[in-house]
Amino acid sequence: MVKKVLKFGGTSVGTTERIQHVAYIIKKEISAGNKVIAIVSAMAGKTNELIKLSEEISKEFDKRELDVLLSSGEQVTCALLSAALLKIKVKAKSWLNWQIPILTDGDHSNARIININIERINKYLDNNDVAIVPGFQGISKTGDITTIGRGGSDATAVAVAKIFKADTCEIYTDVDGVYSTDPNKIPVAKKIDKISFDEMLELSSLGAKVMQSSAVQTAMIYDIPLEVKSTFTERKGTKIFSQENIDYTKSVTGVAYSKDDAKITITGVEDRPGVAANIFEPLNKAQINVDMVIQNISSDTKTTDITFTVKRNDVQKTLQILKAKSEIKYKEIIKNQKVAKVSIVGAGMVSTPGVTYRMFRALSDENINILAISTSEIKLSVIIDEEKILKAIKKLHTIFELD
Ligand code: ADP
Ligand code: ASP
Ligand code: MG
Repeated sequence: MVKKVLKFGGTSVGTTERIQHVAYIIKKEISAGNKVIAIVSAMAGKTNELIKLSEEISKEFDKRELDVLLSSGEQVTCALLSAALLKIKVKAKSWLNWQIPILTDGDHSNARIININIERINKYLDNNDVAIVPGFQGISKTGDITTIGRGGSDATAVAVAKIFKADTCEIYTDVDGVYSTDPNKIPVAKKIDKISFDEMLELSSLGAKVMQSSAVQTAMIYDIPLEVKSTFTERKGTKIFSQENIDYTKSVTGVAYSKDDAKITITGVEDRPGVAANIFEPLNKAQINVDMVIQNISSDTKTTDITFTVKRNDVQKTLQILKAKSEIKYKEIIKNQKVAKVSIVGAGMVSTPGVTYRMFRALSDENINILAISTSEIKLSVIIDEEKILKAIKKLHTIFELD
């Protein structure tokens, strides 16, 4: 007997017809003699709809109640899928997060799974076939319902695969695998058959939402191989696993992008030790994640300009903090929210010289100005004007031979 964790995303369960189709996918597994733990997302658009409802009540909707609200989307899918399976004579049952329970730690809307009780579900699976578990949520030590971040059903699937010692963890979605870039934006994108955890982690952290980054991180730490595949076709998916299993012929594996960054420049700050610390320490305390930082060389040796990027929804908080700190002296603070980040990712970059200059040359050939740069061993990201993003992705995709 093989124990499989199968996760179905929002589009895969977007209508009752689709839920019935998912029931048939699961039935096939059961007919092959497998046991299934199915992790489900809310029906497509449901979570956004619930957020909108909350905003109609208040922009400062109580965080505890928001999690109660948002977790309800997955509950609906659980019951619909379970009943669809029962209808086709598959022995299935759904659980709510607190009935299992799935224990979490951390803040509302951003909690993380720390443990899952396996007893009830394992006992049920001894004599039955399918357990259905809601993705994206859990219950805290104080008994409050928590959610674990947008796209979090992927993380639930990986946590369940780990704790239940599943034989496979398959992520069913609306594309048939991980592509060299978003196939819905760039139709010439190519499917990747195998990708390392490291590369997938970079791609998803840099905007490829096909896998949620914290799910990839957990899979990497515990060495849980993943497979991303389509709910709607039977084509082979993408295998995500540890680096040793992969052959690297290309320097660049994929291009990712995101439009949730903003650039802040503080001009005329004093150029002396401790100034950067004075700026970034309070931001860190407020849990504002600073991504790229550039400090210009000062022309007069007395003052300099510091530019950095933060998430767009942290801009107001960042400005408030900087303006409130009297020890930070500056001339002006300039914000630019119309920027985007485009990144190339590839484990082969380590051994291929010239990738950096080829990226910069390609962007300059397209007349795209680079506003900030950050690098790691296997990725190179630049901030550019938001309106040039598609042009940049296309060009990079072509010059690194990904089309
Ligand atoms: P689900 O609801 O199944 O979790 P998501 O919408 O979260 O699905 O993720 C799938 C989407 O990710 C695809 O429809 C695609 O537009 C997008 N995507 C972005 N980058 C990539 C990529 N490199 N490969 C595949 N899909 C990608
Ligand atoms: N329903 C949640 C969301 O839309 C979680 C998920 O789909 O993974 O973010
Ligand atoms: Mg998703």
